[in-house]
Amino acid sequence: MNTLRDTVVGVVGAGTMGTGIAQVAAAAGHPVLLYDAVPGAAERAVSLVDSRVPDPLRLTATGSLADLAPARIVVEAVVEDLAVKRRLFADLEQVLAADCVLATNTSSLSPAALAAGMAYPERIVGLHFFNPVPLMRLVEIVAGPATSAAVVDVVADLAAAWGKTAVRSTPTPGFIVNRVARPFYAEAWRLYEERTADPATIDRVLTGAGGFRMGPFALMDLIGHDVNEAVTRSVWTAFGHDSRFAPSLAQRQLVEAGWLGRKTGRGVYEHPGNHAPVAADARKAPLEVVAHGTGELRSLLDRSGVAVLDGDGDGGNVELPSGALLVRCSGTTATALSARHGTPVIVADRTLDDATATAIAVALSDGCPQGSRDEAVGLLQSADLEVHVVDDAPGLVVTRTVAMLVNLAVDALQQGVASRADIDTALRLGTNYPLGPLEWGERWGFGTVHRILTAMQAAYGDPRYRPSQLLQRMAMAS
Ligand code: NAD
Repeated sequence: MNTLRDTVVGVVGAGTMGTGIAQVAAAAGHPVLLYDAVPGAAERAVSLVDSRVPDPLRLTATGSLADLAPARIVVEAVVEDLAVKRRLFADLEQVLAADCVLATNTSSLSPAALAAGMAYPERIVGLHFFNPVPLMRLVEIVAGPATSAAVVDVVADLAAAWGKTAVRSTPTPGFIVNRVARPFYAEAWRLYEERTADPATIDRVLTGAGGFRMGPFALMDLIGHDVNEAVTRSVWTAFGHDSRFAPSLAQRQLVEAGWLGRKTGRGVYEHPGNHAPVAADARKAPLEVVAHGTGELRSLLDRSGVAVLDGDGDGGNVELPSGALLVRCSGTTATALSARHGTPVIVADRTLDDATATAIAVALSDGCPQGSRDEAVGLLQSADLEVHVVDDAPGLVVTRTVAMLVNLAVDALQQGVASRADIDTALRLGTNYPLGPLEWGERWGFGTVHRILTAMQAAYGDPRYRPSQLLQRMAMAS
């Protein structure tokens, strides 16, 4: 390649993504040629970009594919349809230099399928941007079996020059982000479908306790349920209907009803609207509690200011004055633990960081007396937490979501989808998670994650929660 500023970039498709890609390439200094099959669409995209950026860019709308001939790299962002993209690539082969790189922004199609039958399959590479392109730093580079290492290096250099952080993925369904992030949505839907909590509560717990920037329902309303469900279905289908990726019937109903989210004024929520959940009313904290063992609740107790006596047990549980136990969530329901211990149990969900969490979910064993409930709620409220009492679901809210994210990240690692660092980077930058899932697994302990999933698998009798094979090994090693 010549110097960056001389490298002509072609972009085909002037929709949401193509416009963003053209803007980013032009803002990095390239002359950019933008083509769309719909007359006038490229011109409108150029005006839109001009209105967004302060300085004039070298961005030009072209009227035909042949005008892209000077390009050294062409990025296509046309509709997600294999036949359309293949025809486009075949047409581009007729007009482009033999060494012009052909990148596809496809979210779900395999670069292998796009390259099949092409004269120069080694120059075809996936370059998966995230929406909105000018704001999202992540790009997934996806090499097919025929893609040359030199082409991968060229697009990696370009992505860096365009201010993006590139990660490398094998051409597997959903690449890194759209595969590993599925449980963030799927577990929320499952909780909702089982009436564990309402969407506003689930969103609040995942933000206030889980540290996620947006809750899953608010995020899906933003993305659009049609788009989000289509990605889920495509990954689920590609993985042979693996129940870990199963779509939600409740989301299907929204799509069928045309309740697609913010863009239609209504999705899970009404827009605009007040989506604040109702937290538990204020209760008095007990004067003192007994902690058995060092325990996973210590940092929350430290925040509470309640006197903590050392008990003689070693289970890590906290004994409330009524005799009920407060227990950290490990995937077993409060009711099952109550049967085991012979006393009422309150399970507290996990958090990203007990020192900074602002909310927490708790579940009560069936038949838990009001007095025990109030002691647990008061104790956690005195730790300055907004407490949400939800139904007694295995793995509660944050615990199950994060355990499944870790599980799928470990699974992707085992299958060589990407490096450990790239998986974490992809999820932090592609979805704005506060921690990469593998870092999160380190923090909670892979043994703990394995224990949570094993308990959930037993509770549901569902292979959806099976720990990935590598996670089993990591648990044994931890
Ligand atoms: P879009 O519908 O907004 O834009 C597609 C554009 O392509 C339209 O302007 C259309 O006129 C044009 N087009 C269709 N066929 C064409 C052809 N043969 N030649 C030239 N132009 C043609 O779609 P989008 O959301 O920008 O998505 C484009 C691609 O990017 C898809 O492959 C999609 O899967 C992928 N993608 C989308 C997102 C997202 O969040 N929207 C994120 C990552 C990747």
